[in-house]
Amino acid sequence: MKSKLTYDLLIIGGGISACVFASKYLQNNINKNVALIEVGRGLGGRASTRISKRFKGWELNHGAPNLNICNSKNNLLLESYINELLDKNFIKIDDSESVSLDKYSYKEAENISEFSRGVNYISLFSMGRLSKKIIESNNLSGKIDFYFETLIIDLKFNNNKWYLKSKNGEEFTSKFLICSTNLLAHKRSLEILKTNHIPLRKAIPQNIDKKIDSLLNYLEKQLFVPRLTLLIYTNGNYSYKDFYTKKNRYFYLTKPQENKYKFERVIFQLIDKNKLGIVIHLKELDLINSYLKSKDEDLFKQKIFKSFNEIFKSNASIIPLTGNEKISVMKWRASQPSSCPVPLSLQLSEKCRIGFCGDWFEGDGFGRIEGSILSALILANKFKNLN
Ligand SMILES: Cc1cc2nc3c(=O)[nH]c(=O)nc-3n(C[C@H](O)[C@H](O)[C@H](O)COP(=O)(O)OP(=O)(O)OC[C@H]3O[C@@H](n4cnc5c(N)ncnc54)[C@H](O)[C@@H]3O)c2cc1C
Repeated sequence: MKSKLTYDLLIIGGGISACVFASKYLQNNINKNVALIEVGRGLGGRASTRISKRFKGWELNHGAPNLNICNSKNNLLLESYINELLDKNFIKIDDSESVSLDKYSYKEAENISEFSRGVNYISLFSMGRLSKKIIESNNLSGKIDFYFETLIIDLKFNNNKWYLKSKNGEEFTSKFLICSTNLLAHKRSLEILKTNHIPLRKAIPQNIDKKIDSLLNYLEKQLFVPRLTLLIYTNGNYSYKDFYTKKNRYFYLTKPQENKYKFERVIFQLIDKNKLGIVIHLKELDLINSYLKSKDEDLFKQKIFKSFNEIFKSNASIIPLTGNEKISVMKWRASQPSSCPVPLSLQLSEKCRIGFCGDWFEGDGFGRIEGSILSALILANKFKNLN
């Protein structure tokens, strides 16, 4: 039998909200025994980086490519944290070109997308490394145990203690629990984890804690946008027609184009002088489903190349693709919450010793990194006085 792993605090999930929470929590609780459990191979979650094993030297951000902050001026907590990340040289202002792709003209894309509003910041590393840097900052490296490739499938709360079970059979115990993902509290867990009960509901039955009941009621109605990300590893000599040298270049499609081509945006990512990667974000449900069902991956890829070349046909900076570039695909079943944000007042149940953070909470940053960071900062403050 595998041994039970016991901690003061367990964090489920290793996305940016978990990393921000952990770094802030540990700053005030350096002697606590803390572990982070993540089903993926590394940190970053939906703001992470694909390090290709097949294609050497390629590291492409396949989720969020950068972060945009709309509301820091009205929120001192967020403003001071962004300043901290700037001072540490983890992020800088993203002055990459960001344009709306229009049939007739190029326009500034500032307000065309929820992902380009406000002040845009880019990580000085890959997005996955940004999360790692955050959790290791303030000399916290080594102060936390990591369990990667570990999927939590079951929760129990008994005698003021949390008991977690992973798919691999590990058992974890803790005094406090943080869920930086709402998978274990949402009905999609039934299909993904192949269980008959939403794990949080099973752990805290109805009428034990009004806050948990209310949180679960909100999540009952929360929907998610699925996305498909295509990573195109261009051929060796591929570059821009002009001499653009910044790290990223973002092209947003207009609504009519999005309807026609099913692309949401196309992001060029410069890996090094000879490697220019292209990441295409798609959020059209029909297309995603047809891709998931399709047996003919090649046909799908050729459609993508054709659309790409049509979109950029009369573009002064983009060279067409040849059709023999390599592609890999990332399927996001739940890329972004799209409705029913959860009130921040439900973030912490002292009675059940559980806290929640992530982009699924209310506020300007709902569904974006901004919301993930802010909810983590607020939760860390709420945890300051808990022992
Ligand atoms: C394709 C795409 C493009 C995006 N573009 C932008 C953008 O341009 N700007 C922007 O601000 N935002 C963007 N977003 C949204 C942004 O990525 C998210 O808002 C943010 O990364 C969420 O971080 P988080 O920590 O709240 O959650 P997550 O990153 O989802 O972290 C939760 C983690 O928990 C893990 N996990 C879940 N369940 C379990 C379990 N049972 N056991 C163990 N581990 C578990 C998951 O693997 C995940 O790593 C984009 C998202 C996607 C997918």
